[in-house]
Amino acid sequence: MPGGVNSPVRAFKAVGGTPPFVASASGPHITTIDGDVLIDFIASWGALILGHAEPSIVAAVEEAARRGTSFGMPTTHEVELAELITELVPSLEVMRMVSSGTEATASAIRVARAATGKPGIVKFEGCYHGHADPFLVKAGSGAASMGEPDSPGVPAATVADTYLARFNDLESVERALGQGTAAAVIVEPVAGNMGVVPPVAGFLQGLRDLCDQRRALLIFDEVMTGFRVARGGAQERYGVTPDLTCLGKVVGGGTPAAVYGGRAELMRKVAPDGPVYQAGTLAGNPLAVAAGFATLRYITENPGLYDELENMGADLEARLTQAMKEYNVAGSVQRAGAMLTLFFGPTEVRSWDEASTVDRDRFGRFFHAAYQGGVLLPPSPFEALFLMRAHGPLIDQAGEVLVTAIGETG
Ligand SMILES: *Cc1c(COP(=O)(O)O)cnc(C)c1O
Repeated sequence: MPGGVNSPVRAFKAVGGTPPFVASASGPHITTIDGDVLIDFIASWGALILGHAEPSIVAAVEEAARRGTSFGMPTTHEVELAELITELVPSLEVMRMVSSGTEATASAIRVARAATGKPGIVKFEGCYHGHADPFLVKAGSGAASMGEPDSPGVPAATVADTYLARFNDLESVERALGQGTAAAVIVEPVAGNMGVVPPVAGFLQGLRDLCDQRRALLIFDEVMTGFRVARGGAQERYGVTPDLTCLGKVVGGGTPAAVYGGRAELMRKVAPDGPVYQAGTLAGNPLAVAAGFATLRYITENPGLYDELENMGADLEARLTQAMKEYNVAGSVQRAGAMLTLFFGPTEVRSWDEASTVDRDRFGRFFHAAYQGGVLLPPSPFEALFLMRAHGPLIDQAGEVLVTAIGETG
């Protein structure tokens, strides 16, 4: 395997050292094959919102496996999951399941290009939308951690229609749209792949207005923020409705599942209702549907979950901010709901040019000090810590470890 791993960031290139190999996980903990037990804030890169091996999810997947692991035929369980998703995120009038966030975003722009008859896509520097060719320009964490913002193997012609804009900067969007050939603006409504960068007041509404004026579609890539920054995702939290939405991570409850959907008139263009081709052998896979349904049913039945996560997040944010002051470490802690990043260096990060000034070496020392204290952080300065409900009883203990780790970075 390249780098010995199946996804680059797992190789610890950005922090140095050798990654631990996982033996098992339960609740907030990961156990390594060396027997270390770590409080885990990677949370499968945000896919887990409850905890590892959540009993209700394990039971649902076991039961589904006994009925058969894949049919390539429709099931009523897919319909039930779709009903739950569209109830929680009402802008998804029609939706389609796929197996990864990468597929969801690639499919969404195909629909946008077909619906508008225009080729262009506006994307933001530092935002990641999976690894499909048109998005591999200034794509945030994975590429940035490698020190290679763009990828060889992506033909120049493929990204010629990708126009870059600056996150939280509406003027740059206006300039990018100026060419008049953009089918869509795609955005992480809370950027999470350059570290957590919330939208400044009016930014998302500004995008909505600009898209309407220029006849471009607004696509929210909520693969990370969906069911994380609020029950109904960033579109609920900030009150701005996109034309198309991509979901992933939490929607699969820790299994490979993702979704794209939106206005019926647009989604009815997808085959077989319409001519826009998109398919998947394992799309709507029964195990993924069971895990996703168990997760979203928990979310639906426990309306207090997001207050719980918000309180945990606020508590951790306050402790870390305070510790940076006390230890006289320059930087900032930025958060939206259950996702949080500690930036060493810049006192406020609103866009990629600011994020990219972080002190990477200091982050590496912070990461390893936390690890020594029994806390596993995402191994990159451009990622978010993800909170799970299972962190609740341990948030004090984890906070203490991280505070000490900040002190040890000097
Ligand atoms: C993780 C992520 C993706 C890609 O999802 P995969 O399942 O890894 O393909 C796309 N967009 C955002 C915002 C993500 O965080």
